Amino acid sequence: MEDALLTRAQELADDVFRPRAQDADQGDIHGQVGDNVKRLAEAGYFGLSISTEYGGLGADETTRREYAELIASACGVTAFVQQQLHAGGFFGGAPDEQFRREMLTQFASGEKFCGVAFAHLRRPGPPTVTAERVSGGYLVNGVAPWVTGWSLLDGFTLGAVMGDEHLFVYVPKEGNNVSLTPGPRIPLAVMNASDTVEVKMTDLFIPERALLSLRPTEALRHSDHCGITGHVYLPLGCARGSIYYLRSLAAKRSNPRLTEVADAFTEEVDRCRADALAWTGACAGLPEYKERALHVRASAIVLAVRAAHAAVTATGGSAHLLTQPPQRLLREAIFYTTTAQTQDVQAETLDLLVSPDCWRT
Ligand SMILES: Cc1cc2nc3c(=O)[nH]c(=O)nc-3n(C[C@H](O)[C@H](O)[C@H](O)COP(=O)(O)OP(=O)(O)OC[C@H]3O[C@@H](n4cnc5c(N)ncnc54)[C@H](O)[C@@H]3O)c2cc1C
Repeated sequence: MEDALLTRAQELADDVFRPRAQDADQGDIHGQVGDNVKRLAEAGYFGLSISTEYGGLGADETTRREYAELIASACGVTAFVQQQLHAGGFFGGAPDEQFRREMLTQFASGEKFCGVAFAHLRRPGPPTVTAERVSGGYLVNGVAPWVTGWSLLDGFTLGAVMGDEHLFVYVPKEGNNVSLTPGPRIPLAVMNASDTVEVKMTDLFIPERALLSLRPTEALRHSDHCGITGHVYLPLGCARGSIYYLRSLAAKRSNPRLTEVADAFTEEVDRCRADALAWTGACAGLPEYKERALHVRASAIVLAVRAAHAAVTATGGSAHLLTQPPQRLLREAIFYTTTAQTQDVQAETLDLLVSPDCWRT
């Protein structure tokens, strides 16, 4: 774990993000959340997972996970927007070495932001984005239903169906304003400040140089399978945000019961994190892996909602004021229920929600 890197992030979270989280939530991308993103970029955090060879921080996995939790505990929309604009991982396998270096260097320094649009590949039925091979590159058509951070990003990585393969390419905004048609900002009950839009692509030409990878469609199912517990850190961060809030309320009201509740949730968060670290994709070959990993993922989702619900409960009516954290934390917790959702995650979360374990006998 890289302590200096986390200490600075913790300072930003405590001094800037958490005190202004309601403003970020209620504003737009050009307000507090844009300001937060800029601060993170200036501090080099967009290079967190990019190798030092390209000017990134090359942080280890434990550091990246703790970082995600602590930013999400302070301000959900900042954590989510950064996650969606942090697409360095896709470029690691780009065949054109010069292109890879050029792009990763600019992403690591925060000079350019790269969005992502590939969740639509998981949808059953006819593909919403297709590609065909043409002379010198690829021609893409279709609609990407969710692209976050549209007005901040310089380009995005796009997944498209090409025959029985998935094509991943980098799409710069510059030079493509005729082929790219963004919809209006989608009005949302949560993450409304994330500037998420739908993007239509009409005969969009992508040169061979911008190829990131070409994989059999089965590979996405495999990476989803290996990454089940990789998405627990934003919900666990959200739960930590509720715990932080419960502890400050306990001190303000001198109420030891709230400290007990916060302690109980802290134990659960620690246990869930330990289970997530125990059931990473490295165990994907074990017979019990899928069941255990799905249970951890769904537990993190339900835990975030329960902790935020406790924050609402402990506060009373003022919990629902838009100026107060509990309602925001509860909306964020519910949002994390569907991020990177697969059919298996959906089924496991529903199972846990109807579980008789919810009843105390
Ligand atoms: C505010 C917001 C911002 C987002 N930003 C981005 C972004 O920047 N980039 C990005 O790539 N994604 C983004 N997403 C998508 C997000 O990560 C999730 O993947 C998404 O919310 C899951 O829902 P969906 O609409 O994509 O898929 P859905 O169509 O709702 O499907 C969810 C799951 O159910 C399954 N399913 C759907 N229909 C059926 C059916 N008829 N039968 C059986 N199974 C079915 C799907 O296979 C999938 O596993 C965003 C979503 C939101 C809400």
